[in-house]
Amino acid sequence: MEPQTPFHSNSLIVGVAIAVPLRRLFDYIVPYNYAIEPKPGMRVKVPFGHSTKIGVIVSVSPKSEHASVINDSKLKEILTIIDQFSLVTPSLLKLYHWMEKYYHAPPGEIWQTMLPTSLLKGQPAKQSRQSYWQITELGKAALFTGKVNKKAIKQRQILEQLMQSNHGIAHDQINQFNMPYASLKTLAGKLWVSREYSTVNPNITSNLPNIPTSIQLNTQQQAAIEQITQSLNQYAAFLLFGVTASGKTEVYLRLIHHVLQQNKQALVLVPEIGLTPQTLKRFQERFDVEIILLHSGMSEQKRLQNWLKARSGDAKIIIGTRSSLFTPLKSPGIIIIDEEHDLSFRQQQGFRYSARDVAMVRGSIEQIPVVLGSASPSLESLLNVTKEKIKRINLTQKAKTSAQLKYRIIDLKKQPINHGLSSELISLIKKHISQQGQVLLFLNRRGYAPVLLCHQCGWSSSCQRCDTHFTYHHQSHFLQCHHCGSSRKAPNQCPNCQCEQIVPVGLGTERLQEGVQQLFPEARVSRIDRDTTRKKSAMQDFVTSIKSGEVDILIGTQMLAKGHHFPDVTLVGLIDMDGALYSADYRAPEYAAQLITQVSGRAGRADKPGEVIIQTHLAEHPMLHEIIHAGYSDFAQSAIQERIEAELPPHTFSAMFHAESPQINFVKQFLQEVKAILDRYSDLKVELLGPAPAVYVKKAGKFRYQLFLHTNNRNQLHQLLDLTLPDIEKLKTASRVRWRIEIDPASDS
Ligand code: ADP
Ligand code: ZN
Ligand code: ZN
Repeated sequence: MEPQTPFHSNSLIVGVAIAVPLRRLFDYIVPYNYAIEPKPGMRVKVPFGHSTKIGVIVSVSPKSEHASVINDSKLKEILTIIDQFSLVTPSLLKLYHWMEKYYHAPPGEIWQTMLPTSLLKGQPAKQSRQSYWQITELGKAALFTGKVNKKAIKQRQILEQLMQSNHGIAHDQINQFNMPYASLKTLAGKLWVSREYSTVNPNITSNLPNIPTSIQLNTQQQAAIEQITQSLNQYAAFLLFGVTASGKTEVYLRLIHHVLQQNKQALVLVPEIGLTPQTLKRFQERFDVEIILLHSGMSEQKRLQNWLKARSGDAKIIIGTRSSLFTPLKSPGIIIIDEEHDLSFRQQQGFRYSARDVAMVRGSIEQIPVVLGSASPSLESLLNVTKEKIKRINLTQKAKTSAQLKYRIIDLKKQPINHGLSSELISLIKKHISQQGQVLLFLNRRGYAPVLLCHQCGWSSSCQRCDTHFTYHHQSHFLQCHHCGSSRKAPNQCPNCQCEQIVPVGLGTERLQEGVQQLFPEARVSRIDRDTTRKKSAMQDFVTSIKSGEVDILIGTQMLAKGHHFPDVTLVGLIDMDGALYSADYRAPEYAAQLITQVSGRAGRADKPGEVIIQTHLAEHPMLHEIIHAGYSDFAQSAIQERIEAELPPHTFSAMFHAESPQINFVKQFLQEVKAILDRYSDLKVELLGPAPAVYVKKAGKFRYQLFLHTNNRNQLHQLLDLTLPDIEKLKTASRVRWRIEIDPASDS
């Protein structure tokens, strides 16, 4: 046998993606007699600098093809190949290559997003067995014949719980269901419950149920399903443009039914974790198949196990947030993106991508349909409809009521305002509560007040690291910066003049709740924002209490705007739309229109008619009137026309270099040098704008500047970046700042 040597001509060279911000792969040698044949998508452990790193193999080539490196004694050997097989499917590898080219992103950063954290840390990609508790026939008999001891309340509860859960309950969920292990063991001793170990839930039959006869699809829903099912085994993108509560989810469920009939999997992306318990329940009630969730709120271990279940094909329906788009699927059948306009589908840190755009690429690679659903679609998708890249399907009727929402704009100018509420809104709240309706008040600002001010000397609470105000939180008596997260105890006297007249200025949800409770002392008021939902089960508890009618007035931020189905809400008040309308961002009217449509959609979802009140000092704003009188669709058409005339995205294309550093000069100098490099290719039709300060020029102690690239010709934009990025990466000034390139950049944050 020949000795193992890195110079053996039959050795292989692998290009490895490593989590560093460089746009390149790192080459390593795999000895010719290594036990595992390296393949793209396998993890490897490699020496890197003075340490070791885990990376992902992206390319494999025989050493002979690497003429230039044969004599490069610096080329190192891998340490180990961690996986026996590629972690991802060939389609996902293709998708990776597309993203790498399109987003000009460092390969390591892309894989950081594509793989679950525990795999990046080196854990084995192995499906482990779980155990599941279920009630036995004996247990059922005991329950029905009253054999269960009257005093054994806990045992009875457990039996009833298991009776209801026809999929049993996984052992890792028994605490969630309030089932003590000790009681379960006692019941198991009586053979009333049993525990089974398996990689798949043994209680799932995977039989397809009959479609519920209680829901008769309307003609629009029927047409939508027919049109989409015609392309079940090929790529096509659809925009399901349906007003809120028009039955979009019902359409998804029927489509998934068809997909399951073909023994394929469905991937459903939703904007927020808060949405998932409700969505999950609806899906579970319909299908007797393994349905899994994937989101950042779950433990790394659970997430990995779910990911592996999708990969092996055990899981048939995968519901997740943005990055679950990269879940490997054994037999993909459809991708659905619910609330496709939602900004959470854009990743805003690390590898920046649009899940909506990438989903369409994945669909075309996998040859499966992609369905984008929304009541307020993004202008991007609507423009793609006119370019015939997406087929538009309308659902114009609410499923359960024919009553139209009644809108009213309240001009706050010269009005008496009481705790943020106009007298008109106050009397409407009274009216709706007295008629047993629930009221939702929307205010997108958590905390008590956005500023704390000294009445004597004018001192105000500001975050030095961000050049913004600290938000005052009354209950905790803390000041908190909502940009960088830093916080401190609120002062009791002015730090500047030591007087005690420091007053909160402005209105946040916490203060609104206080005011509303004063105005309506009898009403049961709940506040739902990030501060009140920190506990894991909090959101679910709120949803339950709202649905069971234990709440009269709900106060909430964005979190309440999305997806929830609260049948008893009849009045929605948007307390302060000024901020959204005054913004300098050219996309602000689009985002505000989506917000109004979504928040309004929480009213009148069941058979009760809904009313919507919009309070603003900008009552004349044309967008408001378009939304109210003509609807989102007409607003969007004129907004697209404006973008075309102003030559703005999505009609044109843009990219952005963003740089930040505690040293403002470093940032400016770097971007000037970037600009100089880009300027070398002035024959390419790409316009450069900047460098200019970002909207929030200072954040967490760093100065932030941006250089925009703007063009009518997407190819030339990519060409310019391909030509220049290698030189830009080599700039000395590049290592002094944090920088990135963003394609189709989203709003500054
Ligand atoms: P969306 O996803 O558009 O907000 P949903 O699918 O959640 O709408 O539907 C809203 C409500 O109407 C749900 O309770 C749903 O069960 C019900 N629904 C949907 N389609 C129909 C239908 N054709 N007939 C009766 N009820 C329906
Ligand atoms: Zn003072
Ligand atoms: Zn700050």
